[in-house]
Amino acid sequence: MVTVEVDPVRVESRLSRGDMSCPSCTGGVLAGWGFARPRPVAGMAAPVRPRRARCRGCAVTHVLLPVTLLLRRAYLAELIWAALAAKARGHGHRPIAQRLGIPRSTVRGWLRVAAARADAVRSWFLAVAVTTGVDVAVPRTTESVWGDVLAAVHAAHGAITARFGRSAVLGAVTAAQVAVAASAGRLLSPGWPPVPASDPATPVDPAADKR
Ligand SMILES: [Zn+2]
Repeated sequence: MVTVEVDPVRVESRLSRGDMSCPSCTGGVLAGWGFARPRPVAGMAAPVRPRRARCRGCAVTHVLLPVTLLLRRAYLAELIWAALAAKARGHGHRPIAQRLGIPRSTVRGWLRVAAARADAVRSWFLAVAVTTGVDVAVPRTTESVWGDVLAAVHAAHGAITARFGRSAVLGAVTAAQVAVAASAGRLLSPGWPPVPASDPATPVDPAADKR
């Protein structure tokens, strides 16, 4: 996944100029390569159909996700994140739901899904951190599963912002947005994270975005 500006004309112009570099290799540039499957986005009237691009060098394809889409997803991510963080601090789903103004069943569902994949999510973000960062210190295991997951996401966040600058590249400045960006919005979606987590530049499951 590559985050791009909202204006599709500018995106096309950058693609045709060879002005968009490939995140999967060194020196490769992206060219237009069809469109990804339309995806509904909360708060938007019509589904968004993101552009796809293919590297002229390494031939890896990427979904070009407009930054607003990321941010719109990140709004939900911020809530999910707040719930997970509260859980890590020892709160139960009832007080969390009450504080966030979200139905208890929704919060319970998030926590259940997150708990079931905690190890995989932790490994994914540690891989992002180690791949992105320089001399990344892998967080030590804490007392709780939830603490471990959060520590891994924070490590990824730290590595990404240290390398690319705050708000650069992913358009993500908070740990929650990093969680969303690095998981392409699939933090709690079925089939995520993919295994193995060897290419954090393209975390989108290729099967989900067939042209
Ligand atoms: Zn490439």
